[in-house]
Amino acid sequence: MNLDTPLTELEWIPPQRQRQLDRFGIATVGALLTHFPKRYEDRTQFDRFPTGDTAEPVCVCGIVKKTGVRRIRGSQKMFDVVLEEESAHALSTPLLCRWFNAHWVEKMIVNGQRLVVYGKPKASGSGVVIVHPEFEVVENDAEVSIHLKRLVPIHRATEGLSPRVLRHIVWDTLENLCDDEVEPIIPAVLDATPRAWALRQIHFPDSRATLEKTRRHLVLEEFFAMQLSIAAKRAEQSAQPGAVHCAADSLMRRLHAALPFSLTGAQFRSIAEIRADLAAPRPMNHLLHGDVGSGKTLVALSAMLLAVEAGYQAALMTPTQILAEQHYLTLRHLCEPLSLRVALRTAARTEQSGALPLFDPSVEGGEEPHILVGTHALLYAGAGFSRLGLAVIDEQHKFGVMQRARLRDQGIAPDVLVMTATPIPRTLTMTLYGDLDVSTLDELPENRGRIVTAARDAAKLPEAVKFLREHLEAGRQAYIVYPLIDESEKLEAKAAAGEFKKWQALLAPMKCELLHGRIAPEEKDAIMERFRRGESKALIATTVIEVGIDVPNANIMLVENAERFGLAQLHQLRGRIGRGEHKSYCILLRSAKAEGEALEKLRLLEETSDGFKIAEADLRMRGPGDILGTAQSGLPPLKLGDPLADHELMRLARNAAFLLFDRDPQLAAPENARYRSVLAEGRKLMLSQVS
Ligand code: ADP
Ligand code: MG
Repeated sequence: MNLDTPLTELEWIPPQRQRQLDRFGIATVGALLTHFPKRYEDRTQFDRFPTGDTAEPVCVCGIVKKTGVRRIRGSQKMFDVVLEEESAHALSTPLLCRWFNAHWVEKMIVNGQRLVVYGKPKASGSGVVIVHPEFEVVENDAEVSIHLKRLVPIHRATEGLSPRVLRHIVWDTLENLCDDEVEPIIPAVLDATPRAWALRQIHFPDSRATLEKTRRHLVLEEFFAMQLSIAAKRAEQSAQPGAVHCAADSLMRRLHAALPFSLTGAQFRSIAEIRADLAAPRPMNHLLHGDVGSGKTLVALSAMLLAVEAGYQAALMTPTQILAEQHYLTLRHLCEPLSLRVALRTAARTEQSGALPLFDPSVEGGEEPHILVGTHALLYAGAGFSRLGLAVIDEQHKFGVMQRARLRDQGIAPDVLVMTATPIPRTLTMTLYGDLDVSTLDELPENRGRIVTAARDAAKLPEAVKFLREHLEAGRQAYIVYPLIDESEKLEAKAAAGEFKKWQALLAPMKCELLHGRIAPEEKDAIMERFRRGESKALIATTVIEVGIDVPNANIMLVENAERFGLAQLHQLRGRIGRGEHKSYCILLRSAKAEGEALEKLRLLEETSDGFKIAEADLRMRGPGDILGTAQSGLPPLKLGDPLADHELMRLARNAAFLLFDRDPQLAAPENARYRSVLAEGRKLMLSQVS
């Protein structure tokens, strides 16, 4: 028997169990042994019986003294079990375990049994009760070595397949496992612990210390397999021929010289990194990330100018119409002195005029533009590019990773630069964007106005309004943000549409405008344009303003029901202000009901404006599984490792995997054959996920 052996060949697993396991996605010995425990119970030392509420769940062992079923309200039933501590101290209080409508539990528990119970106790009347505890009946002494007197694994279970049954199956399987047949996955330099030992110990650890050691090994395995597939993708990409999209830089230098400010060190560094990539004769996949306001647009434009000067076209693609229009205006303004043609193309315009107006009418002669700006509609009409050399994809976290592939599918293989305003902790760029080259803008331009953030009770609204009026009267502008646009929404958040009138009255006679997702695109543009020109003073808006909008004169943001937004989202929103030389203010109004994590979130925003810190906290709150699950494309799922908490192991695994490919890009050497099979295994896993 080895790890590939199908469970159907193992006679100690009854066919009915085999079918259950198969439905649970476990069909081989390997799959069974990498179905890791979700937690462990220390059954060498049970907790004492609780005498009241406890903060953490307890794990106790006792003898069943009494059971009873009671009918409550019609057909509802309540099942009570009284448990006594085995080596009863005179003072120990019996523990009441209680289940509602759980027939199957009633059938399992009888007087005199030894029961292990796990759950959170609550004081109730004169005693202590645990409602719906996890429990296990420990019947005969032969099983004690598996289920008692050790660190006992609790596996994620499923209907009909309890942790106890799973534990038994894993135990029997490990008894039959031949250690010599278990090949190592990771190079010994990374960790020399034998794999079979690690697989045994993760299920039935000798101690907490061995558990740590074995977990380290298995997390490294997992990360290494992941980084191996990333490294393989990288090696494949580097081997592909690609055009050199970079020659002289006089256009770029003229652009820089014409700016009223000088670039930040981070901008210079990023441009140099991207330039080296453009100049390499292989397809470029570059990620530029940096906090809101760090000046990504200029870096992108610099890269585009390099491509243009080398004789190619460049395209900038955005997730929204508003953003496309804004970039278009910015780029046109910056490129006109360089005599470059910039064109705009968006879904709305295409729709409107029926035929495909390839170029902005203001561009003379109908010649092909040097730079195209547009929404993702650009992707579906590749015909416009005859010489596309560089595609820049802005705000890629909204845009999706798939778009990159889309261009390729159309037979256009430009170099690709993706930009995201969500700063990504380094450890995650290694995972999420492991196949991209990454440049980081970790420095804000100096002229950036400071942003003061204050979270206040909604009752403070009148004071906030007074503050707002003062600044608007002094010539500044403001964003007022609402969570929802429609009062019919179930949440009772105030709706922007409904509140618009109120704000008009509060801020009269200053001009306010309303902006939300359901307004027609052309109308949206007009509204934004009036705001940009300073004709309207306040924009009552939903999160449509979340990405990319750049109006330096707007220095106040007021967010109502701030607790309803995500942490990263609030940071993005806040990035709309603090873009000019004026000191900026972000007022986060919270409803009286806000509590717990929501308050924590607002406090963090008051404390820091460091996007990297906020991104990490956000990940921590949401859990990396969420990020990896949604954003990650084409990587096997992680069962054990946490890319945030285990980032050091990720780094080690990455180095080892990349070193391997550096030395042997095809993994052709005989001693590397096993890594080829690790790769193949990973691909199989991914395919099985897709189907
Ligand atoms: P983001 O990274 O959020 O996309 P933008 O590219 O929109 O940031 O830049 C925000 C603002 O900062 C723009 O008005 C831009 O002109 C300005 N800016 C960019 N780089 C610098 C710099 N080095 N010094 C001063 N202002 C800059
Ligand atoms: Mg931007």
